[in-house]
Amino acid sequence: MSAEILDGKWVREQILAELRPRIDKLSAKHRPPGLAVILAGHDPASEIYVRNKIKTCGELGIYSEKITPPDTTSTEDLLGIIEGLNQRNEIDGILVQSPLPKQVDKRRILLGVKPDKDVDGFHPLNVGSLVADIPAPRPCTPAGIMELLRRYKIPITGKNAVVVGRSDIVGKPMALLLLHQSATVTICHSRTSNLADECRRADILVAAIGRPAFLTREFIKSGATVIDVGQNRGLGGKGLVGDVEAEAAKELAAAYTPVPGGVGPLTIAMLMANTVHAAEQHLCCA
Ligand code: NDP
Repeated sequence: MSAEILDGKWVREQILAELRPRIDKLSAKHRPPGLAVILAGHDPASEIYVRNKIKTCGELGIYSEKITPPDTTSTEDLLGIIEGLNQRNEIDGILVQSPLPKQVDKRRILLGVKPDKDVDGFHPLNVGSLVADIPAPRPCTPAGIMELLRRYKIPITGKNAVVVGRSDIVGKPMALLLLHQSATVTICHSRTSNLADECRRADILVAAIGRPAFLTREFIKSGATVIDVGQNRGLGGKGLVGDVEAEAAKELAAAYTPVPGGVGPLTIAMLMANTVHAAEQHLCCA
């Protein structure tokens, strides 16, 4: 059996195409949606992510702004920048790119962003809404995966979903979104006993670990849907490698997301979707 490839670029294009008329409508009637990205310091990977976010805004007609405090910035300085953006009407979304410099208190930063401008869905109020299944901005990567599952018509209700990874940005919100769609959800992490046994029960296996090709054949049930969130540097720092051994997924799964080209393209698309939705809420013309 050779697995169906779940094409993240195809899903991204669909999401962006659906956003364009909404952006055009907002721009014609009011103003374009606005996104501010704060990039503190010079992390090379973050610089690439931020460049791509700003570029996608430009392609869609979303106003964007990049703010680049130095890596010596303090929590107070960043909170001051965020507060300024909270007050500005033409800014609908504020994204604080992680990782932040080590001296910065991340929790205070998360709390500083106004919840209705929190397009990453990381503010505790929005996390609470996610837990309670109340509409609010959802974290972009897991929300993108839900879009991919929906658009490929992969059934979720009643299925065994296993999420490997319990981070606040991927694993935990992923598990909650799957739970709200009535999957039976197991969350695994570095202290899980018998990880392979847990994973082999998965109809939907989500790997968000950060270890190259960590999930090998013995972790995959034949016929499963395998979602590989991992974005690891390949040998010699070159290319991208997922958390799942690609050959094993190809051979055993019914469907899988390749790396690159699977989950990766969805994150920015959902950031754009969250920004447009925030603008519609702010301008009352959804
Ligand atoms: P974190 O490092 O925050 O979390 C990793 C999780 O994996 C932790 O919960 C950890 O467990 C678990 N883990 C680590 N080692 C093992 C192990 N040996 N067995 C079982 N579980 C383990 O990473 P993120 O969630 O931020 O990211 C995960 C991956 O997804 C990374 O490769 C990252 O690059 C990628 N990513 C991709 C995005 C995209 O747009 N495609 C967006 C965000 C992330 P514990 O909690 O016990 O330490």
